[in-house]
Amino acid sequence: AKRNGGNGYAVFEPHMGGDAAEQLELQNDLRHAIQRGQISLHYQPKIDAELGQIIGAEALLRWNHPTRGMVSPEVFIALAERFGIINALGNWVIQEACRQLAQWKQTGLNMRVAINLSVHQLRESGLAERIAQALEHQGVDASMLLCEITESVAMEDTQATQRTFEELRRIGVYLSIDDFGTGYSSLNYLRQLPAQQLKIDRSFIRDLETQGDARAVVDAVVRLAHALGLRVVAEGVETAGQRDILLAMHCDELQGYLYAKPMPAETLLAWAQGQKPD
Ligand code: C2E
Ligand code: CA
Ligand code: CA
Ligand code: CA
Repeated sequence: AKRNGGNGYAVFEPHMGGDAAEQLELQNDLRHAIQRGQISLHYQPKIDAELGQIIGAEALLRWNHPTRGMVSPEVFIALAERFGIINALGNWVIQEACRQLAQWKQTGLNMRVAINLSVHQLRESGLAERIAQALEHQGVDASMLLCEITESVAMEDTQATQRTFEELRRIGVYLSIDDFGTGYSSLNYLRQLPAQQLKIDRSFIRDLETQGDARAVVDAVVRLAHALGLRVVAEGVETAGQRDILLAMHCDELQGYLYAKPMPAETLLAWAQGQKPD
């Protein structure tokens, strides 16, 4: 059964995929989704809080299923991880984001693009090398690419992930700790991570105007990040009230529906050009 979940994604009940036959069909569909041209990236602007101008964009995966419609990335990425095809999907994202970076650079739109990395990608060897190759192939500087890694994954203290972090740092891409505040970071470990950015989880931003404790957490995270020399991004900014609180706290970058929803690359180019002062 399919209905609209309110966010434009198809909803699957009782749980994604339903029975075994449907699961298998979906798995098969996902395996072929890239070659069938059903997978794309949408981009959501990141706004420099001080200047009120776009300074980057986050690439977010979209799957337009021929009969089910848009499937939420939270759903199909979990499926891809379960089916062992997340690395293929992740590699496609790397190639496509680098291609888009090069194209935007040509049109004079110079901004950093962020991609999301799954824990499975970090555990697989050769990730940094593939990213470096994709950047070189497109003639894009590594500092233009930002890798978002969720806090729980970033804190995973295994040899494989640690080696990957080290390699990513060495090739010169930027690292961001995503969904910050939802995991249990050791502050000492956070200090050692080669990240340049902390991204405060949307749940804290949502409660900023109504809950004093959320406000206290965000204020503390901004101070902590700045003390460690990291930039802070707030995700899920939806209201002017939230924005004003974040500006008063000196949050560096803002991202959310208040500014723009994720959109196709061509739309983002027009959006960014319309934003420029003349
Ligand atoms: P995320 O990395 O935390 O991405 C932010 C999500 O919040 C996106 O959902 C975005 O559309 C949504 N969002 C942005 N601003 C607002 C707002 O103001 N209000 C609300 N309510 N939501 C907002 P989306 O695109 O559905 O992606 C969901 C998750 O799927 C992402 O969470 C990320 O964990 C995962 N994902 C998306 N693309 C990729 C990818 O290429 N690779 C991997 N590994 N994961 C991805
Ligand atoms: Ca993200
Ligand atoms: Ca996030
Ligand atoms: Ca998230």
